[in-house]
Amino acid sequence: MRKLLHGRRDRGKIVFASTSVPASSGHEPREFLATSSKVAPKLRRGEFSLQPALQLFPTVSLPDDKFHDHCGVFAVYGHPEASKLVYLGLYALQHRGQESAGIAVSDGESLTCHKEMGRVVEIFTPETLASLNGPHAIGHTRYSTAGDTVVKNAQPLMVSCQKGQVALAHNGNLVNASTIRRDLESRGDIFQTTSDTEVILHYLARSKHTGIPESLADALDRVDGAYTLVALFKDSIYGIRDPRGFRPLTLGKLDGAYVLASETCAFDLINATPIRDIEPGEMVILDKRGVTSLRFAPPAKPAQCIFEHVYFSRPDSVVFGRSVQTSREQLGRFLAKQHPVDADMIVPVPDSGVPAATGFSEESGIPMKMALIRNHYIGRTFIEPSQAIRDFSVKLKLNPVRSLLEGKRVVLVDDSIIRGTTSRKIVRIVREGGAKEVHMRISCPPTISPCYYGIDTPTRKELIASTHSVEEIRQYIGADSLGYLSLDSLRKAVGDTEDRYCMACYTASYPTVVQEPLLALRQRD
Ligand code: SF4
Repeated sequence: MRKLLHGRRDRGKIVFASTSVPASSGHEPREFLATSSKVAPKLRRGEFSLQPALQLFPTVSLPDDKFHDHCGVFAVYGHPEASKLVYLGLYALQHRGQESAGIAVSDGESLTCHKEMGRVVEIFTPETLASLNGPHAIGHTRYSTAGDTVVKNAQPLMVSCQKGQVALAHNGNLVNASTIRRDLESRGDIFQTTSDTEVILHYLARSKHTGIPESLADALDRVDGAYTLVALFKDSIYGIRDPRGFRPLTLGKLDGAYVLASETCAFDLINATPIRDIEPGEMVILDKRGVTSLRFAPPAKPAQCIFEHVYFSRPDSVVFGRSVQTSREQLGRFLAKQHPVDADMIVPVPDSGVPAATGFSEESGIPMKMALIRNHYIGRTFIEPSQAIRDFSVKLKLNPVRSLLEGKRVVLVDDSIIRGTTSRKIVRIVREGGAKEVHMRISCPPTISPCYYGIDTPTRKELIASTHSVEEIRQYIGADSLGYLSLDSLRKAVGDTEDRYCMACYTASYPTVVQEPLLALRQRD
């Protein structure tokens, strides 16, 4: 038997339950579910589990050669099932970080927090959620870019200080956190984590102001970089975007409660209605008076992360006021105009290449075929058998459909080339699948620079486009031709008529000063 955690809406209520099912029954609830990692399957004769092998043999991370987003945040103010709604919100935002997750809740008097390493469905059992009582809650899902990958760095970070109890969840990265930390430590401050987010709590606690909004503004005045924050106090929630608006945050409404989310796909799951984006430099306060909006910083030149539209956000989200699916299809249309090719079929690299491939197909009139099949059921780690099986890691994820590819001229559409290693393997797999020609098209410009604003990126030297020409990259990945989208087309595709986007990973022109420790980290050879 194995234990499944599942949830469903029942007459407007969210019901969680764990069900015991035969390990091999295949009878799984149609809604979200997961095998509880805390329940080791009891095996019968004829059944097997990977569990013992995973314990006995070394495991390695599955390389996907993509930028990874840092975090997702979600908040609910004024709902009797706040923690369950936050659980669902985090579930929808799981793509923004899979290393750890946490939920902090307030019952109006005090705060409780639960966080662990792992994915949302692995961390929260019905019992855990039942212990998180209260009408106000925030949640966080994390992929570390600043600080170590350990549970003490999982968020929300919760502290007690002279402003009361506070829990803070952060999406982004502060570019001056190391300097601040050194300074505070030299004055005797003690840090409990290695996360950049903790410096905000220190400044909040130190602020001479007595009011929370003023103290928060005071703290934020001292930090620089990318920060979308949700902060929980005993009877209020704050939603904040940094003055440049690097990362998204949207306000919504549900049954008289207010919700905040990194992406609107999280609203869809709980049937919340989006109201509007939080503006760069804006702080919204959700409390018994409703929604109060404050400006905590003078307007700065906007620098919304364009990669949210290229790759990070889910296509079913509206981010920075624009449908991600629309942007990605448009990227594909411009790409087809810019780099046309005589071919028999367009093949997306699933899943993220699908919208751009759709646009490419529509513009070029060449049919799109799903000739690469993605295995959705692999975990983050697996056993590497040996080098004897070539392309093992990529083949775990992608398999070619020979009956479609045999003798065909193929245009492969993907959203980015980071190191080039995975693209090279995919081109090889498509050729081995029978393709006569393989033309690679990338729906963004060459990625030449690391990100300092909350995205996990390789060092500059590891980014193939920082040291190789397009022709050299083509040769390396083994394609018959290679075409990248231009910067101008990228801006047009996301509707950027007012220069509101950060594009530093394509231009190396950063919207902030980047301080020494971060530079050293990402620029190293
Ligand atoms: S450097 Fe690139 S990934 Fe980072 S915020 Fe700017 S556009 Fe986004």
